[in-house]
This record gives sequence, C-alpha cells and structure tokens, in this order.
Amino acid sequence: ASGLMAGKRGVVMGVANNHSIAWGIARQLRAEGAELGLTYQNDQFGRRVRPLADQVEAAFLERCDVEDLATVDTLFDTAAKTWGSIDFFVHAVAFSDKNELKGRYADTTRENFSRTMVISCFSFTEAASRAAPLMTNGGAMLTLTYSGSVKVMPNYNVMGVAKAALESSVRYLAADFGTNGVRVNAISAGPVRTLAGAGVTDARLMFNYQRKHSPLQRTVDIEEIGRSAAYLLSDYSSGVTGEIHYVDSGYNIMSMPKLDELRA
Ligand code: NAD
Repeated sequence: ASGLMAGKRGVVMGVANNHSIAWGIARQLRAEGAELGLTYQNDQFGRRVRPLADQVEAAFLERCDVEDLATVDTLFDTAAKTWGSIDFFVHAVAFSDKNELKGRYADTTRENFSRTMVISCFSFTEAASRAAPLMTNGGAMLTLTYSGSVKVMPNYNVMGVAKAALESSVRYLAADFGTNGVRVNAISAGPVRTLAGAGVTDARLMFNYQRKHSPLQRTVDIEEIGRSAAYLLSDYSSGVTGEIHYVDSGYNIMSMPKLDELRA
C-alpha cells in the first residue's frame, strides 16, 4: 500500500461477507488510506458485515436495499452529513432468481427480468445520480460486471442481459457526469467463488474451465480485483472513463482453447 487513496472518502456497496468482491475492494481502499462508508442489504447480512466494517474502521455502516429507494436516499444523506463531499462510490450488487440462472434464457419470466434489471443494473444509475452531486471536487464511480454480457455463457442468462445494460449505462453515466470531473468505469471480473457467484448453476465447471483456458492459467482473487479498483478510483486513472476493464487473467481475449490442450 502506498497511500494512493489518502484523503479520499467514499461509499462501498455490496459487502455480504469476507468472500465478497466488494470486501476485496474495501480492504484495498482502506490499505491505500481511504475513509469508507459501507452498506449491508438486510439485518441477516448486517451481522456478518459489522465486524468487517470495524476492521476497515468504517465511518458509517448503513442498511441499504436497492429495492427500497428510501434506503438509497438515506445512505447518501448519511454520507453528506458525515463528510460533506465524497470522492468515490463502488457498486458491487447483483441479484436474479436462481431458478432462472440455469436452462434457457428464452424461459426468463417478466417478473424476474424486471427484478434482475432493477437490482443489478438500474440501482447503479439511481445510486450514481445521488452520489454525483456529492462529488464536488470530482470523483470516480465503479461497478462490477461479467463477460456474460457480451458473449453467451451457459446458465448466466438474464444476468448477462442485465450486465449488458449495466455496461451501457456506465458509458451513458460517464458522458452525463464527465463535465463535472466525475469518472464512471466498470471492472469485468473473472469468476470468483462468492455467494452471488454460487447462484449460477454449474458455476464450478465454468470456474475450472476459465482457470484452464485463460492466458494466465488461473482465476483472479478479490485482492487483485481490489488493486485494479484502487487504480480506477484513484488519480492514477484520471484520464480513464466509460471503460469496461477486464480483470480476468485474460480469459476474454481467447477464442478457443490452446491447440495443445485440444490435442491432449
Ligand atoms: P456477493 O454475493 O458477495 O455480493 C453481492 C452483493 O449484492 C451482496 O452484498 C448482496 O447483499 C447485494 N445485493 C443483492 N441484492 C441487493 C439489494 N436488493 N440491495 C442491496 N444489495 C443487494 O457476490 P459478488 O460476486 O462479490 O458480487 C458482487 C458483484 O460482482 C456483482 O455485481 C456480481 O455480478 C459481480 N461479479 C461477480 C463475479 C463472480 O464470479 N463472483 C464475476 C464478475 C462480476
């Protein structure tokens, strides 16, 4: 850690436990000197998140369920009351009905399509539009996506469609907020064993396949996602906005397995 984020203050949304990508990011930001506010979805998660919030000496820990817009308002009210202005916002939130993270995309229901879109895509837009006015000295926002948005991944289904919309919203938000010196980017992470990751049927098979067939021949961990996030949230990336940055051991560049793997 180098003090990259010293003097910066912001909100990290999406810590469920110590396996969460948001936790890898929060810990790295803290190590780099940032001051953090964390959120938890409901009381069940809250019990697990509180000791983690203590570990990173969080300035506040707020309940925030993005399906309940009032709790999003409260979150940014708290940030404004605590700090006046903020420098960064991290959104690491997604949900879809497990029963539709298997089988055919074509069978997605209207109800789950809407819910998946609101929680996994629109919540970023709603939170970003509340975070932006607090970024009076410029700032940076970050969300988490997955390459099932641009290429078909078995079982990812409606979540892939939601991630495509999320990635598009990163570009529109970057254009909206750019004039105020606010940058908006996404990290497209390779598969990580988390609560959300386990919701996708046969996630383990996909995890093992990507490990085997990525240039680095391994998956990524939440520490390296955290370090890439620190770059995108710090002044080191001051010229970068609207970008979907892959942190996936290079898996996305491959069109097929290496020939020697096929011959074996
Ligand atoms: P996780 O289960 O640790 O985190 C998901 C978070 O979303 C949880 O904290 C949960 O409380 C929160 N959430 C769900 N519904 C919510 C709601 N209504 N209101 C508020 N919060 C809500 O899993 P994760 O893998 O760390 O997921 C974080 C992000 O990373 C997600 O956007 C996910 O799609 C993305 N991602 C994950 C992987 C992976 O393989 N795990 C890969 C690429 C991208």
